[in-house]
Amino acid sequence: MNLPKSDFPRVIIVGGGFGGVTLSRKLVKQDLQVVLIDQHNYHNFQPLMYQVATSGLEPDSIAFPLRGLVEQKKNFVFRLAEVYSVEPVLKELKTSIGSVKFDYLILATGSKTNFFGNSELEEASLQMKSVPQALNIRSYMLQNLEEATLTDDREEQRRLMRIVLSGAGPTGVELAGAFAEFRKGVLPNDYPDLDPDLMEIHLLDGSDRVLASMSEKASIKAKKYLKKLGVNVHLNVMVKDYQDNLVTTNTDFSIEAYSFIWSAGVIGNPISGIHEEHINQKSQRYLVDQYNRIQGYADIFAVGDIALMQTEKFPHGHPMVAQPAIQQGAHLVSNFKRMLKGRELKKFKYFDKGSMATIGRNKAVADVGKFTLGGALAWFTWLGVHLYFLVGVRNRLVVFLNWTYNYFNFDRAARLIIRPYQKKKISGRLK
Ligand SMILES: Cc1cc2nc3c(=O)[nH]c(=O)nc-3n(C[C@H](O)[C@H](O)[C@H](O)COP(=O)(O)OP(=O)(O)OC[C@H]3O[C@@H](n4cnc5c(N)ncnc54)[C@H](O)[C@@H]3O)c2cc1C
Repeated sequence: MNLPKSDFPRVIIVGGGFGGVTLSRKLVKQDLQVVLIDQHNYHNFQPLMYQVATSGLEPDSIAFPLRGLVEQKKNFVFRLAEVYSVEPVLKELKTSIGSVKFDYLILATGSKTNFFGNSELEEASLQMKSVPQALNIRSYMLQNLEEATLTDDREEQRRLMRIVLSGAGPTGVELAGAFAEFRKGVLPNDYPDLDPDLMEIHLLDGSDRVLASMSEKASIKAKKYLKKLGVNVHLNVMVKDYQDNLVTTNTDFSIEAYSFIWSAGVIGNPISGIHEEHINQKSQRYLVDQYNRIQGYADIFAVGDIALMQTEKFPHGHPMVAQPAIQQGAHLVSNFKRMLKGRELKKFKYFDKGSMATIGRNKAVADVGKFTLGGALAWFTWLGVHLYFLVGVRNRLVVFLNWTYNYFNFDRAARLIIRPYQKKKISGRLK
């Protein structure tokens, strides 16, 4: 890999997500050559992807160019490449644009959708872990609505318009709520010849409550809001398969739908080369110590979703959300400063700022300490927090303007089929 010469030690960061962005911005201020590698040239603000999928926001407003991350570029290099593997002994990475040596390596490769090894399911369902995937959902939903206008067969229209989601965590809940708002606000105006009641939204989950990672109070409130929006919530129902447009479960319940979205969890996204004894096999996350150092390696670190730091308080590691990635990134930078000065490193401590999920207009839930907020207060808090953490001033402005416009007009303006979606698996209907 072609890189500028530098007298500073080289730190390579793999992944420009929340962890990688925090690290890059702060590490460039040290006497280090900072090389950020990502397979995309943008940071993807995953918490707002559901709004792209449901026509609320344009994709560009939630993505930020990684080359624009730092002003001072003397010791910062970005390379667009996929990292294939790491050779820890040689201190070398193999990538799609050649090999590169490092002094220190920080892996921040995040997570991927967990299909629990069911490749059939993976091929047939829609998922949302990247901006292109969010666009697939948007296009596919709109394509199906267009197709529904071409038939008078109400059952075929229902299959085309129905959306089934598996997994009632934040992603499933937020998508389901946003689809319900689309049905209410957009469908009657844009598609007067379609019956909105045919756009059924079904949210399935194997556990006995929605948002199982949040407090029970938050789950109860969220379920109430979903019902109010007309989402069909099916609990204690686990999806087994999705074949020939039929979703089957571990109960008698099965349902036909052309749109099936898998939102039932994530697992780590490791790159090869790290010895498997240092990877938790179930979660596919690197086992790290409290300094974010991958166990067994002196100069290789991991932060964020990919890092499993088991402590007394977090025996299963930190939650796979943005805050641990940001906080671990920032903490690792302060440990790098200590390391460069030959001082003792400090252990990472996670500060849980709470969690939140939005269900629809004026409807959100937030767990903050012992308190659970709901309704408009939680919703406006959610808006503020997401604007604050969105990367880039321009993005913040665009998102704010979009939200204001959508709020007052009950609209979701980005309902465009820019790049039509072709389902990978031929279902007999799509050629
Ligand atoms: C739909 C959705 C909604 C979410 N909503 C919320 C929310 O509301 N609040 C919240 O706190 N968290 C939310 N999360 C979780 C949050 O986005 C993640 O916890 C967070 O992004 C983790 O940050 P990270 O830096 O570890 O990894 P990521 O942000 O996932 O970044 C990983 C980066 O690594 C790159 N990469 C991976 N492999 C390679 C490779 N081999 N070569 C080169 N580059 C590579 C990827 O392109 C990516 O840019 C959501 C996640 C999803 C999917």
